[in-house]
Amino acid sequence: MLFEEFGFDNRILKSIGHLGFEEATEIQARAIPEAMVGRDLLASSKTGSGKTLAYLLPALHRVYKTRALSKRDPRVVVLVPTRELAKQVFGQLRLLLASSRFTSILIQGGENFNDQHKLLQKDPHFIVATPGRLVDHLKQRNVFLEGLELLILDEADRMLDLGFAEAMRAINAAANHRQRQTLFFSATLDNTEVSDIANELLREPSRVAVGQGFDEHKDIEQHVFLCDHLDHKEALLKHLLLGQTIKQAILFTATKNDTVRLSEIIADWGLTTQALNGNLSQSARNKVMESFAKDQFTVLVSTDVASRGLDIANVSHVFNFDLPKQAEEFVHRTGRTGRAGFKGDAYSLVGPKDWLNFKAIETFLQKTFAPEVIEGLEPKFKGLTPPKPARVVKNKVSKETVKQAKKAPRKTTGKAQFHDNQQDGFEAFKLPPRRFEKKDDMGDED
Ligand code: ADP
Ligand code: MG
Repeated sequence: MLFEEFGFDNRILKSIGHLGFEEATEIQARAIPEAMVGRDLLASSKTGSGKTLAYLLPALHRVYKTRALSKRDPRVVVLVPTRELAKQVFGQLRLLLASSRFTSILIQGGENFNDQHKLLQKDPHFIVATPGRLVDHLKQRNVFLEGLELLILDEADRMLDLGFAEAMRAINAAANHRQRQTLFFSATLDNTEVSDIANELLREPSRVAVGQGFDEHKDIEQHVFLCDHLDHKEALLKHLLLGQTIKQAILFTATKNDTVRLSEIIADWGLTTQALNGNLSQSARNKVMESFAKDQFTVLVSTDVASRGLDIANVSHVFNFDLPKQAEEFVHRTGRTGRAGFKGDAYSLVGPKDWLNFKAIETFLQKTFAPEVIEGLEPKFKGLTPPKPARVVKNKVSKETVKQAKKAPRKTTGKAQFHDNQQDGFEAFKLPPRRFEKKDDMGDED
C-alpha cells in the first residue's frame, strides 16, 4: 500500500516524502487505517518493521485534522520504556513536525525536573515520555491529561517488565475520558500481564498482529559458537570482530562491569568502542548514543538498555557475549541489526553457563541452531546433557535390597554432565532437573 492511499493530510505526505518512503510496511498498512478511524488498537509485529510511523502518522493526522479538546493539555502522549528509545522516537516526531506549528517535548528520567516543568508550561501538543517521570509531573500537577486525545504505548511489554505497570495505570487514570483513543504496541500479546493491562487501557480494540511477534527475521543471519570459557569467548570475539567488515556493531553483555571491561579490550584490538550501561549519568548515556548514531565509533558494548527499539541503520552486526536470561530478549537484541531491509549478522557465544538460556531460546523460537566452528578456535564444550537417573546397581544383592530399592524414589544426580572432557576445568553446575523432565514429557524422545 502506498502512503498516498491512506488519505493523509498533505502536510503528512510531504514529511513522508522527505523521509524518502513511498510504500507502507505491512504493520503500517494494517494499523494506520484502524488508527485513523479513531479505534483503539492492539498491535504487534517484529522488530524493524516500522511500528514508529505506524503510530506517529495517524497521531499527526488526528492533530492536523481535528480541533483540540483542550487548549492547554497535550493532545498526544507516546510512552516508551527506555530513555534511549524516547530520544529516538522524539527525534522522528520532530522531523515529521518540522514545518508545522505543532510542538513536541521529551520527558524522561535522569534529566532536570525543573527544565521539564518549564517545557510543560509551554503547553506542547505532543509529549514523548518514559512513564515514571511523566507520573512525577502529573503528581506535581505540572501537566494535566484531561484533554489528551491519543495515548500511545510503544514496547508495552517491556514497560511492564521494567515495572511501569502502576505508572501506566496512573497515566491512564489521568486521561480517562471517553474521547480518548489508545494505541498499544507490544512485541508479545499473549501473556497475561500484557493482556490484563491491555484490557484495562483499551476499549474494544482492533487487533493487528503481523506474523508472529517472533517470526524468523529473514534479514538477520544467526550464528552460534560454543565456547569453553571466558578466554575462549574473547578469542572468538576478536576473530569475529577483526576478521570481517563491520560497519557498526552492538555487543551485549550480561553485566554493567563487563561492558566497561570488554570495551577496554576491544579498544586494545584497535577498534573504536564505547560502553553503555545504567550506571552512566543520563548525559553520558546520551552522548554515547548520539555518537554511535553518528557513526563516530564502531562497537557499542551495552547491557540490555540498548536491546529495545533502537533503530540505527548502520548496525551490521550484533554480538551476544552472554545470552540473555529471557528468551524474547534475544529477539530484541538481535533485532538491532537487519533493519529496514538491510542484512545483518547476529553472533551468539554460548558457554556452559549460557547453555540453559540457549536451550530456552531454541524452545522459544522453535528452532535449533547448528553451532559453527572456527579453525584453531574449536571448542571442547559440546553442550550439556540432562542428568541421568542413578541406576540401581545390578550386582549380587539380596532380593530384599532390590525390593527396597524399588520402593525408594528415584534419585537424579542433579548435576549436568558434559559430553566429553569433564576434566577440563569446567565447574560442574547444577541444573534444575525438572526442566529436563519437562522436556521429556513433551515427547522429545518419542
Ligand atoms: P520497529 O519499531 O517496528 O522496530 P522502526 O519504526 O524503528 O521499527 O522502523 C525501522 C526502520 O524502518 C526505521 O529506520 C524506519 O525509518 C524505517 N521505515 C519505517 N517505515 C518504512 C517504510 N514504509 N519504508 C521504508 N523504511 C521504513
Ligand atoms: Mg519500535
